Amino acid sequence: MSANKCYYSSAADFIKAGYIKIIRKFVLLYKQLILPKYMKQIRNTHAKTEILNIINGSEVALSHADIQRKIGDLCNRVTIYRVLERLEKEGNIHKITNVDGVVNFAKCNNICHTDHHSHDHVHFNCENCKTVLCIENITPAIQLPKNFTVRNYNLVISGICPRCQNL
Ligand SMILES: [Zn+2]
Ligand SMILES: [Zn+2]
Ligand SMILES: [Zn+2]
Repeated sequence: MSANKCYYSSAADFIKAGYIKIIRKFVLLYKQLILPKYMKQIRNTHAKTEILNIINGSEVALSHADIQRKIGDLCNRVTIYRVLERLEKEGNIHKITNVDGVVNFAKCNNICHTDHHSHDHVHFNCENCKTVLCIENITPAIQLPKNFTVRNYNLVISGICPRCQNL
């Protein structure tokens, strides 16, 4: 009887040890594979919200470097690039290349949708402070010759902004 009991208890221990091993493996798997992915997703969502807030809250267009400066250590260069790319694709922001070739990002109005941007407004780039501004209510009427289909406007006017003129 006691031998049997001993046998059962050791079998139970054996099963328990097996369970513990399996649980440990699952925990390890979770820690190594699932948790980092989940954390990355949270970080990326957080970064996306923060970057969109920064752009939406800015009166002027912002370059990648401006965004990096404002966001600090929250995310690295690559993440910022990816987030900006996604925000542009989703119709939240648009790109403006300034006179120096630096890409800037500005918020979109609510006409923009995923994969369909609609802005033919003018951008002003100050030669002095390098500021890029969207001038939404000015839409130049451009007539192209026949058989040209316009898909995108990239209208950048350079000069001196009102702020720099007052200096
Ligand atoms: Zn847009
Ligand atoms: Zn200026
Ligand atoms: Zn614009």
